[in-house]
Amino acid sequence: MAVIPIRELPDPVLRQKAKRVRNIDGSIRKLIADMVETMHAAPGVGLAAPQVGVPLRVVVIGMPEDEDIAIINPQIIRRTGERLVNEGCLSIPGYVGEIKRAELVRVKGRDQNGKEIRIKADELLAQALEHEIDHLNGVLYIDHLESQDKLRKIEPEETQL
Ligand SMILES: [Zn+2]
Repeated sequence: MAVIPIRELPDPVLRQKAKRVRNIDGSIRKLIADMVETMHAAPGVGLAAPQVGVPLRVVVIGMPEDEDIAIINPQIIRRTGERLVNEGCLSIPGYVGEIKRAELVRVKGRDQNGKEIRIKADELLAQALEHEIDHLNGVLYIDHLESQDKLRKIEPEETQL
């Protein structure tokens, strides 16, 4: 396992649409292991493969006190409700912005053994899933800001995604 440098704006890989993973093989499992280590080292609670320079549809999530989750080819199948959240991103260090996210999301994808997984999430997990899946489409949270004055400097205890 290895910690990989996290790509930051304006790196163009962050604006690419990531490709679907066709074969879930050893190279994908190695990527996931490296992404999990990189996420924890940052520290952050989620990471998408483009953030380590790999334009593939792979995300990892590491909620405090929960097991790490890796999702390959994740898809949001349902979004419900709306709420205001503060959000930061490891690829845009030093800032957080206030944006709207869903209250509840349902996501499906594959785990690292190729088995289908479905996740029903609320709160920080729902926010992290939306944030990381946005990364796979080249979308960053700053794209969801209603105006630039919704962006501010991060406080030390705030979470980054
Ligand atoms: Zn991010």
